[in-house]
Amino acid sequence: MSSWRDTTCGVLTVEDAGKRLTVAGWADTRRDHGGLVFVDLRDYSGKVQLVINPERAPEAAAVAHEIRNEFVLQAEGEVTLRAPDAVNPNIPTGEIEVQVDKLTILSRSEPLPFQVGEENVDEVLRLRYRYLDMRGERMQRNLRLNHTVINAIRREMDELGFVDVWTPSMTKGTPEGARDFLVPVRLQPGRFYALAQSPQLFKQLTMVGGLDRYYQIATCWRDEDLRADRQFEFRQLDLEMSFVDRDDVLDVLERAVVAAFEAVEREPPPRPFPRMSYAEAMARYGSDRPDLRFGLEIHDGTEVTRDSQFGVFAGAPAVRYLVAPRAFSRAELARLEEVAKEWGAKGLAYIVHDESGEARSPITKFLSEAELAAFAAEPGSTVLFAAGDEQLVARVLGGLRTHLGRELDLAETGEEVFHWVIDFPLFERDEDTGNWTFLHHPFTAPVPGDDDKVEADPGGALSQHYDLIWNGWELGSGSIRIHRAELQEAVFRTMGIAPEEQEAKFGFLLEALKLGAPPHGGFAMGIDRFVARMAGEPDLRQVIAFPKVSSGDDPLTGAPTPMPDGVLKELGIRTIVDPESSAGT
Ligand code: ASP
Repeated sequence: MSSWRDTTCGVLTVEDAGKRLTVAGWADTRRDHGGLVFVDLRDYSGKVQLVINPERAPEAAAVAHEIRNEFVLQAEGEVTLRAPDAVNPNIPTGEIEVQVDKLTILSRSEPLPFQVGEENVDEVLRLRYRYLDMRGERMQRNLRLNHTVINAIRREMDELGFVDVWTPSMTKGTPEGARDFLVPVRLQPGRFYALAQSPQLFKQLTMVGGLDRYYQIATCWRDEDLRADRQFEFRQLDLEMSFVDRDDVLDVLERAVVAAFEAVEREPPPRPFPRMSYAEAMARYGSDRPDLRFGLEIHDGTEVTRDSQFGVFAGAPAVRYLVAPRAFSRAELARLEEVAKEWGAKGLAYIVHDESGEARSPITKFLSEAELAAFAAEPGSTVLFAAGDEQLVARVLGGLRTHLGRELDLAETGEEVFHWVIDFPLFERDEDTGNWTFLHHPFTAPVPGDDDKVEADPGGALSQHYDLIWNGWELGSGSIRIHRAELQEAVFRTMGIAPEEQEAKFGFLLEALKLGAPPHGGFAMGIDRFVARMAGEPDLRQVIAFPKVSSGDDPLTGAPTPMPDGVLKELGIRTIVDPESSAGT
């Protein structure tokens, strides 16, 4: 295998009994039985038991006494069968061991901050010593899974005729809805590149360039608050195709997902993935990325409550409700009310149908026979209401639904549900400014027939934007793009971007669209998100080799750090904050 070892540790079996060989790896554990010393030697492939017998190898025995956890060792010896009562059925190499003749310490380790494979280690400590953490099974498994998935996707893309094109990281701001990370430029002090939030415009330009099918496992940078499913830098399967419709793009993504499942030998989700319009997703689930592993659908009670004696219902543009499969206690309802308030509700009206079938609620006395009949439910359930404008009601019930899905374990069905959300609105109102803004990005095309609405009725225009959802996680988004400059300019106008600003920010794109741009569309799927789901991990950090924590710190290197004044001066930068006082963890 190499001059250091003949084999890896985890692959040895009874078949190898009698062979003389050399293995190398880390001392996982060492047990001194007063005379015999046992060392579990570990590498990425698994562990094998070394036996050091002072009668057989006195020199090796002397070395063995020095060994501590995580020393790097090389051992030469003979593979032998273990005595029947020493067989360990829990590990693949449990029937054999290596009787050591020569033992060499290749590298020593000081006492460890935590043991490799130890559970419940503080995450910042794990990240500070990521290379130790990585020696354990969890990170080995996750990083290798990452590799397998990306490999499978690359193979699939190659087979489908996609060309891997590298696009710049240092560029101009790309409007993907986040803040940019900026890179100062020494040669032009006072000027900055933005790190690409995505290769969006470059990939569109490869289509104008006649490349036909572009893809990249692209690193993207977005300055957003870090959460379980967000890192400052992350990777996307980024693709773009010419002369295609929405269904062609969705087909490619489905193939990539299936290829990844097959590569890890898991049953792929059945194709085609179901589709749902944005309007339906919002009305039935209160979310544009609903978890469809469970029902708990939203029902509409607006009509029946029009003349309600309960003023909150009567005056609300929309009254909707969920029927949760449980008769909640007062304390549980108080907690649910807090959840509803987090999503913007003022309170939470409810009717508890207890096990005996009796309705418990402060509002029933205001409700008519017809209302009570409409809100009747099985014994052992609770009707939870939201009243207000449609968006608020959807948001509150969507938030409650997701919360209940988790709390009541409704989602733990073992089923994997992939689906598409399509037909998003093209624009929405910016909550702060009241201006029209994009839902996806401003390069998304309206659905055929809605071009005129871009300026005449922006709120009524539907877009050719689509999202891919897995068990309630948004895996990615894409769209058919605008390929005519006039339409692109109209979208910018609706968003209140004046011609001078259009020119300054997107002049290069508008120009390209005037020089023979083919119809095109594409997609980007978050690879780390996808792999985290595949690995059954709760957050992206568990599948990324060197992630950052929520403060933005990298516990391993200590980045970000202040820069000496001389360096900043050269870049034409003066800081106005004390870097020490702005430090994270
Ligand atoms: N650039 C988009 C994003 O990063 C994806 C796309 O529209 O292709 O979400």
